[in-house]
Amino acid sequence: MSYIKALKCRECGHPFPKEAIHVCEYCFGPLEVDYNYAAIKKVLTRKKIESRDQNMWRYRELMPIEGEPTVGAQVGGTPLVHAKNLAKALKVKEVWVKNDAVNYPTLSFKDRVVAVALTRALELGFKVAACASTGNLANSVSANAAAAGMESYIFIPHDLEQGKVLGTLVYGTNLIGIRGTYDEVNRLCSEIAAKYKWAFVNINIRPYYAEGSKTLFYETMEQLGWRLPDNVVVPMAGGSLITKVWKSIKEFHQLGLIPSKKCRVFGAQATGCSPITSAMKEGWELFRPVRPKTIAKSLAIGNPADGFYAMGVMRETGGWGEDVSDEEIVDAMKLLAETEGIFAETAGGVTLGVTQKLIKQGRIKSDESVVICITGNGLKTQEAVAHHVGKPQLIDAKVSEFDALLKK
Ligand SMILES: *Cc1c(COP(=O)(O)O)cnc(C)c1O
Ligand SMILES: [Zn+2]
Repeated sequence: MSYIKALKCRECGHPFPKEAIHVCEYCFGPLEVDYNYAAIKKVLTRKKIESRDQNMWRYRELMPIEGEPTVGAQVGGTPLVHAKNLAKALKVKEVWVKNDAVNYPTLSFKDRVVAVALTRALELGFKVAACASTGNLANSVSANAAAAGMESYIFIPHDLEQGKVLGTLVYGTNLIGIRGTYDEVNRLCSEIAAKYKWAFVNINIRPYYAEGSKTLFYETMEQLGWRLPDNVVVPMAGGSLITKVWKSIKEFHQLGLIPSKKCRVFGAQATGCSPITSAMKEGWELFRPVRPKTIAKSLAIGNPADGFYAMGVMRETGGWGEDVSDEEIVDAMKLLAETEGIFAETAGGVTLGVTQKLIKQGRIKSDESVVICITGNGLKTQEAVAHHVGKPQLIDAKVSEFDALLKK
């Protein structure tokens, strides 16, 4: 049973058939999935959801597929950590870490979007999966395509971290490094997508793909005991995740799954690639594209496809956008590791670093609750901290040497 009504233009509202299309042919606005919410409300209760397995498909009525999930059946169901040590360090009453650094199978929240995109791609008859990626999407598409028996073509900027490159190649994909930025990779992929009949998860399959992000926050609201936090901080690359966090909140309200309450949605970027947060801070209506230069490569999109809508979410919810330097990113990665035992990638450093800034600015108050979205794993971006964590202390295999070491 499918609850997809149609695709709908986000700008002019024109409906389109639920096919592999992503742009409105009347106004060039992006297409979005529209659901039959009245029918969903009749079947999707808290009890129904709680009776299902702990993965992203427990909200399957709100996912844009027509049959059963065929790719990524075990994705999602990641921990929401009550971060008491971090709360003490931040001097904030209630801090939660949504830990998608341990998402299955490729250790980032991208497994959520890819599970939906490839399930839908197979429903639409595609045999080949493809994507333009800043790293995590490459890992996830290549792994999930392999498991689904699909061939894949992955396009990345040539200078990604070792872990992201190796963690793509190992699945036996076709990996193409482009001498250029992500935005140049993406432009090339749009041309290739027009020429080859492939499922480019974040181009022609994008309306379906993007919906997978909603499950990160469905889970968070459920794990909080079916309620909203006062604040949530979300990392932004193309700006899709933050718009879907907001959509997930509106849907849960509409379906009566959570009580209505104010929840400020904050967006986080690296200062070296901050087109969205800069536009927020300058009070611009539109963002200006930039050329990225930051260690947070997974967030290094200079011309974010959903940047405009991301700004809308922050303004509508009373949130804000902030950014942090590379040095602040590393410090925040270490703080999260040392307080909560969570090794996040650079994007996690961005999110926590920005949270610290928002607290200092008084935008997040000490008597409030905040959810910090950790979206990727630190083992994939080891270069970023390699020279900031010290070295093991070397001794021979003798107790006397160890005793001497302890005395030092
Ligand atoms: C892709 C990605 C994001 C955000 O992506 P959007 O394009 O804004 O949806 C955040 N964190 C990590 C680690 C990512 O890989
Ligand atoms: Zn339109």
